Amino acid sequence: MDSYIVSSPPQIAVPVQGGGLFPVRRVYCVGRNYAAHAREMGGNPEREPPFFFTKPADALVTGGADTPYPPATETLHHEVELVLAIGTGGADISPAAALGHVFGYAVGLDLTRRDLQEQAKAARQPWDMAKGFDASGPIGAITPAAAIGHIAAGRITLRVNGQARQSGDLRDMIWPVPEIIAALSRLVRLAPGDLIFTGTPDGVGPVQRGDMLRGEVDGVGFVETRIS
Ligand code: MN
Repeated sequence: MDSYIVSSPPQIAVPVQGGGLFPVRRVYCVGRNYAAHAREMGGNPEREPPFFFTKPADALVTGGADTPYPPATETLHHEVELVLAIGTGGADISPAAALGHVFGYAVGLDLTRRDLQEQAKAARQPWDMAKGFDASGPIGAITPAAAIGHIAAGRITLRVNGQARQSGDLRDMIWPVPEIIAALSRLVRLAPGDLIFTGTPDGVGPVQRGDMLRGEVDGVGFVETRIS
């Protein structure tokens, strides 16, 4: 039996409301899932459907820890999102069966180096360094669906230093939760431990060192982090 020749990476996990840890396998994200945000990014939601990208699992920031301001950007943007925690895997999941695969829900921040993203879009390059950098995914505790039911509507908000920046409603998602799971599971096999960031409403904007960010989704919970 061969042994590892460098130290083994730790299992990334997100605390669960009421106790326990959700071990994270992969982190998927939906792009442009709210029409008003697609338009503020210069897109046309009538013509371009939502799509997927990813973050590394170890980009998550948990437990209300500080988020270090990343290198190589002067435009770090907040995007508050509902996050799905997959408890049961599968491929080619139907929308009707999709909610049965959801263990619970959380609130997350899809932090974005907007300047690098704009450069990548212009050069037709991938978004990884704009979206998947270290500490790019602060996330609050996961609330089990067994405790709160499944979430299809409700206010989603982001405050910076107590001031409202983003305010939307989950019912304005272009792909609602069952459609997201169905679409993603046609592209990749989902497995327990997968997280899916479901896209942000409009009102995204820059944050600075020292800012306190608080994202909330009614009936789900919150995420809080300070940019350090
Ligand atoms: Mn996003």
